[in-house]
Amino acid sequence: MESDCLFCKIVAGEIPATIHYDDEKLIVFEDIDPKAPHHLLIVPKKHIRSAVELTEQDNELVGHIYQVAAKVATDMGFADAGFRVVNNCNEDGGQVVWHIHFHLLGGRKLTWPPG
Ligand code: AMP
Ligand code: ZN
Repeated sequence: MESDCLFCKIVAGEIPATIHYDDEKLIVFEDIDPKAPHHLLIVPKKHIRSAVELTEQDNELVGHIYQVAAKVATDMGFADAGFRVVNNCNEDGGQVVWHIHFHLLGGRKLTWPPG
């Protein structure tokens, strides 16, 4: 836990969030400023600053993230229609919260390429 980290505080329950999934490795909660009808954030409980800081020790975690993304999308009813999992990494990637997270977006036709 990083004392000054927003997502560590959500993981610790110190800041409220609408949580849809919770296990020993990660939580999934609603993005406060949704960019699609379904916009969840998949957040590892371990503080990792960005995707650049991932190590081989995190391989299982990253695989688990995609399994949970598919499960949550299925449970919420938008898996068959389709969804997108996005990690914004560092400045050019558009990262603003410095605790790794994966956006799970669905519920509308998403355009490509992204802005
Ligand atoms: P990123 O640009 O990938 O770092 O995305 C950070 C995301 O966190 C944005 O989509 C924000 O809307 C979202 N966010 C910021 N604060 C909160 C919060 N307190 N609860 C839920 N989502 C948040
Ligand atoms: Zn953190």
